Amino acid sequence: MEDACSKTMIEALGLTKYYGPFVATENISFSIPEGQIVAFLGPNGAGKTTTMRMLTGYLAPSAGTAKIAGLDVHKDRIEASKRLGYLPENGPLYQDMTPLELLEFFGEARGLDPRRLKDRIAAVRELCALQEVLEKPIGKLSRGLRQRVGLAQALLHDPEVLIMDEPTAGLDPNQIRQFRENIRNLGSRKTILISTHILQEVDAIADYVLFVHNGRMVFEGTPAELKEDGSLEEPFYRLTHVNGSTGAQAP
Ligand code: ADP
Repeated sequence: MEDACSKTMIEALGLTKYYGPFVATENISFSIPEGQIVAFLGPNGAGKTTTMRMLTGYLAPSAGTAKIAGLDVHKDRIEASKRLGYLPENGPLYQDMTPLELLEFFGEARGLDPRRLKDRIAAVRELCALQEVLEKPIGKLSRGLRQRVGLAQALLHDPEVLIMDEPTAGLDPNQIRQFRENIRNLGSRKTILISTHILQEVDAIADYVLFVHNGRMVFEGTPAELKEDGSLEEPFYRLTHVNGSTGAQAP
């Protein structure tokens, strides 16, 4: 997936996570070059969130290394986090804050100087279409709007890399369309990893697909390579029913 002159922006090197004796991910490795939008696909429980949390430095792997823009997310945590925006599964949690307060809070925590913070809030407000709701409590917003607030927060420091965990889960079709539009509007400079178990997401946004099942990588390639026979349902079924089993792996 990489050509000679592109820079690797997201790298998983043998990421393994045990929860007690349970193997949540085993030896997950991939590298994503600059500017790609990659769908991280797999059924519920496949290990997508666990992998993303290791990639963003929120969860220490049992083995392996994660790098963002060539920086080890544990050894170079601060530098790596400057280049990374993360939209976790349930979006922003501060229900009593308004989007404006949330963005100011995160901007200050990230050390953006007041002038740059003002400019960046104006930019993400525009990009994520938050003009109307900037001063309403987050807890009172629809799920679609909350996702947009989460995206604005993830993009506040203008990171090169964006990692989003199931960003369209629970959205209605119009909200999903709006969200995809926002992603497309980010332009071709950003490197984006989006987890999903929704097959249509792959066709709608992805240049490349990483497929996990039972904590292991079972496919990587283009959407066209994934659906050799024209459908996405068939390979999804085949990749998740290897040897007739869908069960979790024991160590
Ligand atoms: P996905 O995001 O693909 O739905 P997850 O990464 O959330 O999958 O989960 C992978 C597996 O690890 C699942 O079987 C899940 O139950 C298990 N798991 C996730 N977090 C924990 C935890 N904190 N303790 C024990 N098991 C966990």
